[in-house]
Amino acid sequence: MSTQQPYDAATPLAREVADLARRRQNLAEQVLPRPERTRILTIANQKGGVGKTTTTVNLAASLARAGARVVVIDLDPQGNASTALGVEHRSETPSVYDVLINDIPIDDVVQKSPEFDTLWCVPATIHLAGAEIELVSLVAREQRLKKSLEEYFTEADDPVDYVFIDCPPSLGLLTINAFVAAREVLIPIQCEYYALEGLSQLLNNIKLIERHLNPELRVSTILLTMYDARTNLANQVVEEVREHFPEQVLDTLIPRSVRISEAPSYQQTVISYDLNSAGSLSYREAAAEIAMRGER
Ligand code: ATP
Ligand code: MG
Repeated sequence: MSTQQPYDAATPLAREVADLARRRQNLAEQVLPRPERTRILTIANQKGGVGKTTTTVNLAASLARAGARVVVIDLDPQGNASTALGVEHRSETPSVYDVLINDIPIDDVVQKSPEFDTLWCVPATIHLAGAEIELVSLVAREQRLKKSLEEYFTEADDPVDYVFIDCPPSLGLLTINAFVAAREVLIPIQCEYYALEGLSQLLNNIKLIERHLNPELRVSTILLTMYDARTNLANQVVEEVREHFPEQVLDTLIPRSVRISEAPSYQQTVISYDLNSAGSLSYREAAAEIAMRGER
């Protein structure tokens, strides 16, 4: 006689499918609260390739899909966030460069993303590469993004719920502008060796900005990215980060996922590219946590 278990509990694959279905159902039942005032989050880590842009566009898309009004500011000359959100960013496109350097209002350069009805993007073009240098000689060089955003909010017809600012992998004037414009910093940390290297330098910089330029700035959120449950190393990083930052770390871990990395090549976020994939569900869960926790 066979001692096989019923199919639905028998194989890891079947368990995984059942787990995904349960998570999808939970998300479908959730209603996310809208913030009382616009939450402005800067996604920063001077380490390259840790998932800043991926996190920016997928959290933004998750919240927009849930009905929030979301603006992404692409502050990286690479323009990866603009690409993932499917907005035009050829060199002649009016962009965040014009906002920072030429005093053009955000309203004149912001584009609606084809991804969702309530998702917009201020694109970055290659011109932004020169902005670090050009900013140096400008008046109030650290405050330019903040001023432009304030003007944009005053003139907007409907309030914006979330602004996400995607930073380049450096701590130059562009990232400083993002720190001055925001109240919250979200740090993505890759679950890899050396993950915590450079973190104290980043935290010191944020403290300096808080002390001298923006007393409201807080590291509100840490998100662990590219998690691979099969490696001990990833689990060690998770443990260590949770120990150091128990308040800030989200419960949700973002897994390493092929679907997440494929989406930008279709000029999409994983939320629209493959809504029910594990990667998409994880970003939607992280976004729900951020919305439920509120500003801190
Ligand atoms: P940069 O410092 O260059 O701006 P970044 O911090 O913005 O990089 P991303 O561009 O988001 O990092 O991600 C780096 C690479 O890793 C990209 O090719 C992206 O598609 C891939 N990636 C990000 N997150 C995941 C994930 N969870 N699973 C698989 N691949 C991922
Ligand atoms: Mg990036």
